[in-house]
Amino acid sequence: MKLGDFELRTISGGNYWIDGGSMFGVVPRTVWTRCISVDDKSRILQRTSCVLVQTGRENVLIDTGYGSKLTEKERGNFSAEPGEPLVESLTAVGLTVSDIDVVVLSHLHFDHAGGATRFDESGRAVPTFPNASYVVQRHEWVTATAEYPELRAAYHQPNFLPLKDCGQLRLIDGNVEIVPGLRAWVTGGHTEAHQAIVIKSGGEGAIYLGDICPTFRHLPSLWCIAYDLELLKLRRIKPEVLGTCVDRGWWALCDHDPDHAAAKLRRDDKRDFAVIEALAKL
Ligand SMILES: [Zn+2]
Repeated sequence: MKLGDFELRTISGGNYWIDGGSMFGVVPRTVWTRCISVDDKSRILQRTSCVLVQTGRENVLIDTGYGSKLTEKERGNFSAEPGEPLVESLTAVGLTVSDIDVVVLSHLHFDHAGGATRFDESGRAVPTFPNASYVVQRHEWVTATAEYPELRAAYHQPNFLPLKDCGQLRLIDGNVEIVPGLRAWVTGGHTEAHQAIVIKSGGEGAIYLGDICPTFRHLPSLWCIAYDLELLKLRRIKPEVLGTCVDRGWWALCDHDPDHAAAKLRRDDKRDFAVIEALAKL
């Protein structure tokens, strides 16, 4: 998709299946099962729709999917794709891992940061993109690496620690410009320093929502994930971000929707927001 002078593409970091109840929090099962289908284990299909932004100066990749380091057990639990779906998806658009200049991580959960590193021949986790700087909110980094007992399961250290060891880590503080045309929007909510990414070029715009609105089923402000750490904050920030897309006519880019990677939205009395038009991929 063209966005002003930029070219945007969906890069799949792999599909997987996750417990439906965990993705809809307090929404009753009888309600959420009306808008998405479940398998025989009560799981729903999730994409990891990462976004490649080609600005003309640099290739920027937003999020990296779950990568290739899952254990057999984890892979089975999630019915995750084998191999390296992220790298294969890049190959399909004619790029290699060496072509990525900047990787932006919305937050450091496994399904966003897993592809940031891969195992080398000796089984050591190393950065997947040898020439990239990896952009992470400093507060997210500090939280993820602190190994708090209550958050330990949410953060797999090999997904991101090698970035620091190799000197490729760029920590940012707040809503700063990442490269010209891309700006962080720290939303909190899902994690304390979760960031959405605002993309602007030639009078057009898009917002990569990350996990504050993981699918287009999650448009109602109250439809949140059970993993959201700051529930009230999320309920407040989500309509602000989605409302920005509506007011400016920007694309909303969704990471986990099983059907669509982008949509134009309008306000809606019943569900807060509704989809006007949607794209399966960018
Ligand atoms: Zn996620």
